Order: sequence, then structure tokens, then C-alpha cells
Amino acid sequence: MSDTQNFIVLGGSGGGLNIAHSFLKYMEPELKKLGKTYHLYIVDSSSHFFWNTGSPRSLVSATLLPTEKLFVPIADGFNSYDASLYTIIHGTAISWDVEGRTVTIKLAADEATQTLPYYALVLATGTRSPSPATSLHGNHMLSKAALEDLNNKIPSATSVIVAGGGPTGVEVAGEIGHFLNGSAGWFSSRPANPKAKVTLITKSDTLLPVLSKPRALTAETYLNKVGVDVVYNISVVSSTTDADGKTTVNLSNGEQWTADVYIPAWGTTPNTEYVPADLKNDQGYIKTNPTTLRIDAAGSRVYVAGDVGDYSRGGYHSLYTATPILAANIRRDLLAAAAPDETSVPDRLFTANNTETQAVPIGPRGVGAVNGWSLPSFLIWLLKGRDYMVGNALKTVHGRMV
Ligand SMILES: Cc1cc2nc3c(=O)[nH]c(=O)nc-3n(C[C@H](O)[C@H](O)[C@H](O)COP(=O)(O)OP(=O)(O)OC[C@H]3O[C@@H](n4cnc5c(N)ncnc54)[C@H](O)[C@@H]3O)c2cc1C
Repeated sequence: MSDTQNFIVLGGSGGGLNIAHSFLKYMEPELKKLGKTYHLYIVDSSSHFFWNTGSPRSLVSATLLPTEKLFVPIADGFNSYDASLYTIIHGTAISWDVEGRTVTIKLAADEATQTLPYYALVLATGTRSPSPATSLHGNHMLSKAALEDLNNKIPSATSVIVAGGGPTGVEVAGEIGHFLNGSAGWFSSRPANPKAKVTLITKSDTLLPVLSKPRALTAETYLNKVGVDVVYNISVVSSTTDADGKTTVNLSNGEQWTADVYIPAWGTTPNTEYVPADLKNDQGYIKTNPTTLRIDAAGSRVYVAGDVGDYSRGGYHSLYTATPILAANIRRDLLAAAAPDETSVPDRLFTANNTETQAVPIGPRGVGAVNGWSLPSFLIWLLKGRDYMVGNALKTVHGRMV
């Protein structure tokens, strides 16, 4: 019987890939010296990673930000490792036997199922936004098709509705407004000749809840400058695609609006359908030890990486802080199990950053703050709005952030 233990990572995006590379680069060689052999499995419903941070611009026009740059084959990032050490499975985790320490995966190729036992398990299945244009909803081809569909519709659109007042909705509305309507000059509040009526609706009484009220109001001013109107305290109850390709939305105030393009961009849903209910909080996020990032109720060596856990409010900035800490704690656990007589090192502890930290490009401008300190508009453009940091897609897949 093989002594090889399975190290399984569910989800091959920012969180999962960081841990997978940490494992192959640093942990596996160390454990091998102790006579322990492991096999890494990376499981993802998509064969390609999606840099969805760039989707607000890419959905407007593939000329502005080519779709190809947003999607990177996950397998390409692992070519430099010994192929016998890892397997990338294109499939979806559909159930998790916590007692039996197995996960069952539905394979994308033939829909057959495969059950794998694990020695260590990392859950990194993230979240999804309502539209496949802004997050993966299965294989990446769905998202690519959704982006291309919008690329075809938006240039000729004269009416656009975006629903959701968080960063995704604001960025999407800002990009569409700028592309279709241009931008107002220094002394104007609106573009001179707007081509399209672009409306951002939010069920809240403010935009961008992470940012302060004055910055949220500045966001509205910048949206107005690219011809976007903001309507507060209304939500979309349902939407239907009409025979002519337009969309009619039914609103919470009883009104019906019709537009050439409708983009739902509110909130996110955790991808945790395979997780037993007692391990999830009321919103469906995985209950995670907020400092060690283990799932204490799931037995030894079970962890959470990225947005699927309830330990932070999510986002790449949180993920980049949390994954080195998580990697240190996984290494600690695996070394302690491999060499129990050695003195074990203490856990590294994570602290969530709940300060006012967010950067939101709005067409050629932007609002944001770091730890409550204001970021000037031009800096947001320089750091993020210029190219939506698309270079990070390759870096993430190839483990260059680890
Ligand atoms: C439009 C948009 C813009 C954003 N911009 C920013 C930004 O500017 N800055 C920032 O900090 N954050 C931003 N975010 C948030 C950022 O994208 C997330 O924080 C980050 O992607 C989280 O990474 P993750 O690895 O936790 O999960 P995700 O990126 O959500 O990935 C989860 C992975 O798991 C896979 N998966 C899901 N379910 C299963 C399953 N059952 N079995 C197998 N695989 C599965 C998915 O295919 C996916 O590859 C943005 C999000 C959106 C939607």
C-alpha cells in the first residue's frame, strides 16, 4: 500500500493557487526530507483562472482590455514542478464527508464522479457574483461568452441598467458611462453629448458601503461626470429578456424599466453547496477560526483560503495577507505530524483588516482609501484603473506572488 498522503485544494483561484504553490515550492521538499510523500490535487470547475478584477472594463470592450488577458490556463502555472507530485482535476466538488475525510468531485469531462480521501484539505472555492461576466459560474467559457455578448451589445446601447451599489456595480457603471458618454470637463457635472442613459440602482441609501459617506458621495459625482445616474433605495426583484433582446426589470417600488443592456452586479454568493450546513454561517460562508484559518469543527488539517471563509470581508488585499499565514500554519501542522518528537512552532495568527480600505476606479477617475487615508483620484487610476492590474493574472497562476 502506498504511503503517499493526499493534500487536496478545492478551488484554483487566488486563494487556492497561492496555497498550492506554497505547498509544492516549500512544504513538499521539506516533508520529503523527513521521509513523507504527498500528492497535491488542485480541483476547479474551470480549467482557466479568471482575473475578474478586470471584467468591468473587459465587458465594455475587448479592445480596451482584451478578454484573453483575463483567462489563464491553471495547468500552465505548474509546468515547472515534478509532474508526479500533483494532479489538476477539472471538476466540481459536490460533497464532502467530514467524518470519512473524503471529497467527491464531478468531473467536467464526462460528469463521472471521483471520491478522494485527504490527509489535508484546503477549501478555496470562493464566491460568485450574479453575472458570469464578473465571476466564474463553472468553466471559464461561460464567462468568456458572457463578456463577448456584452462586447457586442454595449457599443450600440442607448439604455443600460446596472444593479448593485458595491465596487463591482460602480466600476461597471463607470466603465460603461465613460465608454458610451465620454467624460465631463473640469467645470461640468455631466458629459456634453451623452449617447446612452446609464442608470445605477442600489437598494441601499449609499454607494460603496466600505468607504466613508463623503467618499461615497464623491463616487456619485464621478459617475455623473460619465453620464451615469444613481437611484437609491430600489432593488431589482426580477428580470426578463424580451423578444427584441432588451431586458425588462421589475423593481421593488412596483415599476418596470426596460433597457438595451442590464447587468446584475449586487453582492456575492459563497460557493459552498458541497459543505455540510453545520460548518456554514447564516450567509453560507464557511465557519473559520478567524486567527488560525483552520476549520476547527472539521478535524485535523482542514483549512480555508480566500473569500469562502467567514474570517474577513474578502478581497485580494485580505487574501494576500491571509494566505502566507495560512501556509505557515499548514506547514506547522504537517511538520508536527511528520516529526512529532520535534518541538513544534507556534501558530501564526491572522487579524482581519476592517478599516476603510478599497480602491474603486470610476471611468478616468476613482475613489478610495487605505486604512482610512484618502487615495487621490489620479493614484487610483495609476494603481488600478489604468489596466485593472491585469498583469497579476499570470503572476497568480504561476505562483509569483508566493
Ligand atoms: C468584478 C469583480 C472585481 C473585483 N475587484 C477586486 C479588486 O479590485 N480588489 C480586490 O481586492 N478584490 C476584488 N474582487 C474580489 C476578488 O475577485 C476576490 O477576493 C478573489 O477572487 C477571491 O479569490 P478566491 O480564491 O477566494 O475565490 P474565487 O476567485 O471566487 O475563486 C473560486 C474558485 O473556486 C472554483 N470553484 C467554485 N466552486 C467550486 C467547487 N464546488 N469545486 C471546485 N471548484 C470550485 C471557481 O471555479 C474558482 O476558480 C473583485 C471581484 C469581482 C467579482
